[in-house]
Amino acid sequence: MRQNIVAGNWKMNKTLQEGVELASELNSILAGKTPNCKVVIGVPATHITEVVKTVDASKIAVSAQNCADKESGAYTGETSAAMVKSTGAECVILGHSERREYYGETNEILKEKTNLALANGLTPIFCIGEVLEEREANKQNEVVKTQIEEALFHLSAEEFGKIVLAYEPVWAIGTGKVATPEQAQEIHAYIRSVVADKFGAEVADNCSILYGGSCKPSNAKELFANPDVDGGLIGGASLNAEDFVGIIDAF
Ligand code: 13P
Repeated sequence: MRQNIVAGNWKMNKTLQEGVELASELNSILAGKTPNCKVVIGVPATHITEVVKTVDASKIAVSAQNCADKESGAYTGETSAAMVKSTGAECVILGHSERREYYGETNEILKEKTNLALANGLTPIFCIGEVLEEREANKQNEVVKTQIEEALFHLSAEEFGKIVLAYEPVWAIGTGKVATPEQAQEIHAYIRSVVADKFGAEVADNCSILYGGSCKPSNAKELFANPDVDGGLIGGASLNAEDFVGIIDAF
């Protein structure tokens, strides 16, 4: 069954103490609610263990923002999928445009990260999306198709069934420039058709496809109202409990 999901991506923000405080605040607010969506918070790797201890796992799942493309060994500074899993995280964000742009993550590398995340029982929240020049050249469909093909088409339908996709147009990330509900619906439907062509209609129908990029309480409702938009991956607005809950409440 396709799930509605609101996932926060804190990126490189908050000290451990600040992060635990935010998680705790969110936990208290959600204790008095029954959200109509799954709630995930993507926190820095250093915070996962404490945040997992802070939140009610039945209400809030915790995600890492990355994992290594190697299993273990002499890779100074890296965090393996097994390590992430051992902290109590349920998900891992993979292929975020910031990782692609600033850390040279290619579809080939992301293929390895996805394999390791799945092998270790983590749910990948796999990000795709075009940059502004590609949108202006009307190449967005081509771009997201290639990203999915090269990083995920080697999976079996069963494996793909464990993936959450997040469409994040790079021009909308942190810019205040949000995709229109029509733009979001159009490309989400296209993404679902790409999944259907490869993995079948049932897998595609069950796949959650989140929208990310300047999503706020004020625009979440109209974005989430679209049949192929199954929630959001939220950056800036996930950094305070009130805004994040405002987005959760859009469902
Ligand atoms: P903003 O919500 O800050 O635009 O960031 C979106 C994002 O990159 C989430 O992964």
